[in-house]
Amino acid sequence: MSLDLNQNDLSHVVAADRAHVWHHLSQHKPYETADPRVFVEGKGMRLWDTTGREYLDGVSGGVWTVNVGYGRTSIADAIRDQLVKLNYYAGAAGNVPAALFAEKLIQKMPGMARVYYSNSGSEANEKAYKMVRQIAARQHGGRKWKILYRDRDYHGTTIGTLATSGQDQRAAQYGPYPDGFVRVPHCLEYRAQWDVSNYGERAADAIEEAILREGPDTVGAIVLEPITAGGGVIVPPEGYWPRVQEICRRHGVLLIVDEVVCGLGRTGTWFGYQHYGVQPDIVTMAKGVASGYAAISCTVTTEAVFEMFKDDASDPMGYFRDISTFGGCTAGPVAALENMRIIEDESLLENTVAMGDRVLENLRALQEKHPAIGDVRGKGLFCGAELVADRATKEPLDEKRVQAVVAECLAQGVIIGATNRSLPGLNNTLCLSPALIATQDDIDRITDAIDKALAKVAG
Ligand code: PMP
Repeated sequence: MSLDLNQNDLSHVVAADRAHVWHHLSQHKPYETADPRVFVEGKGMRLWDTTGREYLDGVSGGVWTVNVGYGRTSIADAIRDQLVKLNYYAGAAGNVPAALFAEKLIQKMPGMARVYYSNSGSEANEKAYKMVRQIAARQHGGRKWKILYRDRDYHGTTIGTLATSGQDQRAAQYGPYPDGFVRVPHCLEYRAQWDVSNYGERAADAIEEAILREGPDTVGAIVLEPITAGGGVIVPPEGYWPRVQEICRRHGVLLIVDEVVCGLGRTGTWFGYQHYGVQPDIVTMAKGVASGYAAISCTVTTEAVFEMFKDDASDPMGYFRDISTFGGCTAGPVAALENMRIIEDESLLENTVAMGDRVLENLRALQEKHPAIGDVRGKGLFCGAELVADRATKEPLDEKRVQAVVAECLAQGVIIGATNRSLPGLNNTLCLSPALIATQDDIDRITDAIDKALAKVAG
């Protein structure tokens, strides 16, 4: 079927969407009186909807995903060629792109060794939690089964991963949740919880306090975003990560780093944790792995973690008894291979560092001008501007006005995002995460739109 649609077809598409599609993260009441936005085409950083309107995408497909930009024919060609050769086989057998991508990925992750494939960030994290639970069962006589998670972090939509949601609004009404998940404080210095000069180390010490409170013999792992995404674009303060690593080692707690957003170049290094010189035990990733050209996620472990599952071949329960049906689809790893080649050949990590600096520079200039910008944060092309009603008290700007800034940018043809809705204190940070191919003109156009929107809405 060709998707070359004429205007009549496009009107039909919008009607079909309105009648039958249940959109993610959406209240549907507004669609009773207004058409939903339905995108038709993308090229580079640009998108077109059914009305032919053009947008500059400042958020890589809405949720930090399309790292190499839209319309990459080389990825589509690689997927096509692979699918006609072999589309799928699941279970205990391997396939060619899965082996080759695992090898390339591990080259970018010194200290890591094994890649376990699935299809979404939630799944990748859920697999990591299951590994921790099985390690507890096999190695620690059922103890060390608890997993710590951090306030404001987010790890997915399944019941297991929602049990580790540091964003209450996401988890509310879907409980009850399984036991054994324990929250630790966030590390956002702008909203400081401790009046100290070594904030990073103090915030990390809160993790040790939780381990000691729970009992080190009961805590198996901690899961952390290297830089928190939807919970407020939180770049950890100096000293935080090295202290976290030290605490994990001291108490035999496995370190799971959730790179679902930061992975594959978003922050200017292959992985976010690589800014901080830490060595995780398990790393999860999804969105940017194939930039949205195919569904793929990975749970990557050290050889030591892998070894814990293979010491007793005679034990019928002794291996990781998990499968992901579509973890056997070859489209994901073949797209991921080409995605990684593009990042390397087009020097997109270098571009991300340079353009990320440009975003921060522009946002800081806007901060001079607009009192509503309380704080500017970010690393690489992963930046945020926290909006406040009053700089002195840091009272968050109310959600309606934050959303009005986003809507005003959209009216100018620029898509930006804002952090998690409906939770006061978490919903007031504008998010910018353009594709890693962004040019200086693209960046300036995005921040210019924010400038005009703030003047109109929060001026
Ligand atoms: N971890 C983080 C840090 C995320 O931001 C997300 C998704 N926004 C997930 C996990 C879950 O990924 P998915 O939606 O692919 O299940």
